[in-house]
Amino acid sequence: MDWVNFDEIKKAVSLQMVIERYGIPLRRVGSDALRGKCPLPTHNSKTSTESFTATLSKGVGGAWACQSQSCIKTRGRMGGNVLDFVAAMERCSVRDAAIRLQSWFLVPTAGQLSRQSGKEPVAEISAGKEPKPELISKENGNGAGESETNKPLSFTLQKVDCSHPYLKARGLTDETAQRFGVGVFQGKGSMHGRCVIPIHNGVGELVAYVGRAIDGTEPRYKFPAGFHKSLELFNLHRVKGELSVVLVEGFVDCMKVTQAKFPSVALMGSTMSKTQEDLLAEHFGHIVVMLDGDEAGREAAEEIADRLQSCVYQVHVAVLPDNVQPDQLENDELHRLLDWIRVTQ
Ligand SMILES: [Zn+2]
Repeated sequence: MDWVNFDEIKKAVSLQMVIERYGIPLRRVGSDALRGKCPLPTHNSKTSTESFTATLSKGVGGAWACQSQSCIKTRGRMGGNVLDFVAAMERCSVRDAAIRLQSWFLVPTAGQLSRQSGKEPVAEISAGKEPKPELISKENGNGAGESETNKPLSFTLQKVDCSHPYLKARGLTDETAQRFGVGVFQGKGSMHGRCVIPIHNGVGELVAYVGRAIDGTEPRYKFPAGFHKSLELFNLHRVKGELSVVLVEGFVDCMKVTQAKFPSVALMGSTMSKTQEDLLAEHFGHIVVMLDGDEAGREAAEEIADRLQSCVYQVHVAVLPDNVQPDQLENDELHRLLDWIRVTQ
């Protein structure tokens, strides 16, 4: 079976294309929205004739919502992206919706893309199956205020000791250290003697090294000047294409969860920026929010889950015991907390 890449499908097929394929009569409102009678099979209110809205430029490929209680009740939320829409129309899973969209609109599968390019699937679609130009320009034009990016670094640090005892003390295996490229930096400069953690952008370009003190020195984390952590999700480039992801606060949380074989990304803090929210909505259909088991972590988790509810198909919060952080958990404890994810997929 081909690997379904939600990201590719959402980029190639817009909500508008799907609405047109179904022939749903909606009227245009303003420059960017369609409104009218809700077409979903979950909708059983006879009185609401204007409850369905599709906002064509929201998120990747558009977002929709139905304000009617009948739809909100059945689905537990108001709307979602193009995949959620097809899943609701067809009464199928998001995964099956993705497979349908793939065949209706001839979206190349991730497998086909990687066979052609010989590397990880990227946003380019093969000749003859190109997405419409307006879709491409919508993707690139991120609107005002989003012009800031983290520039890719032109160097990589050498002399990084990936088998330093500090890593073992944090519960990280050699394999994990190597996979993430983390280790204690033995070279000269401001990162000397710190555990350096490479940070990549969503397409896998190295954009920063953060240095974690290993001996109690302040600051605990050194971020390079000019680096905007609010623009990245740590580890996104390794896990995009997965359906579910575990959202954590810190680097080591993310590495420990990955070590237990769950896809994970980290916010690099306990707040979620708008850009991070958009990245999560763009790449994943199911998010488990697993922040620290203290009051601040629980409050942040609730707030983040609330925000994600409106743009992601399924959101769960994993509650940790008091004063426990994900990076302190052993593999089997993480499995006890997270194994049900595999069952519900
Ligand atoms: Zn409805």
